[in-house]
Amino acid sequence: MIVRKSLDDRFTWLTGRKAQDFVLRTKLFEFNLRTTDDVILRDSMGNEGFPLIVLRDEEVLVNFDIHATQSFEWKDSKRPIYTYIPGFNIQTVPPVVRRPLSNFIQARCSSGNAGGIEQYLQLPLTNFEFVVLLCNLILTANEEEPTPAFQWPDGKRAVFVPFHDVDTGGFLKRGERDPLFLVEQKHRIRSTWFVPTAFLGETKERVAFLLKLGNEVGWHGHNHDHRLPFSPFAEQRVNILKNSWLCESDNYPAGMRTPKLLKSNHLFDLLDRNCSRLLYDTSFLQGIVPYDLCTNGRKTKILEIPITVPTDIVVWNALAGIPSARRAEKVLEAQISRTKKLIEVGGVISIVTHPERELSERPELLNVYDQYLSYIKSRPEVGIMTGGELFKYWSKDRTQADSPVLG
Ligand SMILES: [Zn+2]
Repeated sequence: MIVRKSLDDRFTWLTGRKAQDFVLRTKLFEFNLRTTDDVILRDSMGNEGFPLIVLRDEEVLVNFDIHATQSFEWKDSKRPIYTYIPGFNIQTVPPVVRRPLSNFIQARCSSGNAGGIEQYLQLPLTNFEFVVLLCNLILTANEEEPTPAFQWPDGKRAVFVPFHDVDTGGFLKRGERDPLFLVEQKHRIRSTWFVPTAFLGETKERVAFLLKLGNEVGWHGHNHDHRLPFSPFAEQRVNILKNSWLCESDNYPAGMRTPKLLKSNHLFDLLDRNCSRLLYDTSFLQGIVPYDLCTNGRKTKILEIPITVPTDIVVWNALAGIPSARRAEKVLEAQISRTKKLIEVGGVISIVTHPERELSERPELLNVYDQYLSYIKSRPEVGIMTGGELFKYWSKDRTQADSPVLG
């Protein structure tokens, strides 16, 4: 817990979180507390009272292993029951049946909170980000305009990274006439589109309309089958990806997003070992800046770019209780509230939309995205990047930090 009340209040105002939310698995160092020391952060759990961060004569002493807080353990997704039906692929159910059903189930399962957006004011920080932000607050406490904890190109305060999941073949047929694509064109935004390999074909022809404008294309599984993370499907599909043009050198760096965010340590382990050019993923909702993805406790070369802004259809379904005219307003409000918080701390503003009629291409949600992009454009301190550009910036940054010799 943060001992000093003013700092505790400031941290909570900035991140929407309390120090007590974070459980750090780390090594504690031996420490002799002096009577003149000012304890800033102390353990409120196992070693109750143990001084974790201490201010001593203008120096900030951290009494635990900061690096250890970077390890990010995560559990495999539970395999959906329908994926056990032999030969059954949920994607072969026509969207007109599948989507309303899935939206209906999500709406039924929603907590029934009538439009509360408070949850979006809480940033999904990793343990490492918690430590970094807290140390930055302590070190910049006396600055009039505190330096943000994370640095972005051109002195921007935060970066906006728009992503899209293409779930069915319709988008590539509509091409330049696609309504979601046109909304981005209106705002002159380049973005990253994740497409299943089954829709892409052998050449880049079908996505030429995206690439010629500087957009990027990544992987969204092979055919959007929800069995992707599980054996033997993971092995088969990773092999297909490896042999597709997505993993050719001129598509560097290749990124991906798993269908329905279903994932397994096994899948990412295979991707890491077999697809040397698959370099980033966007399937996690935890974190506000990129981090190294670990599988089974092993660090991979895959950079995780977490999704930080709530997805339109998820908020839409969670608000099933309120009239649809108000619902769209609430979706936008939730997205902008989270975005403001991310700008304040200087994180990555990443959003996912779906070029599908039942999802982001409902007229109400197209309008939400249009207004959301207008908001982003109205904030000059926000830079706009594709997934590949963010990967290049972040990985170069880290190389420089790791090799002081180069500096
Ligand atoms: Zn999808």
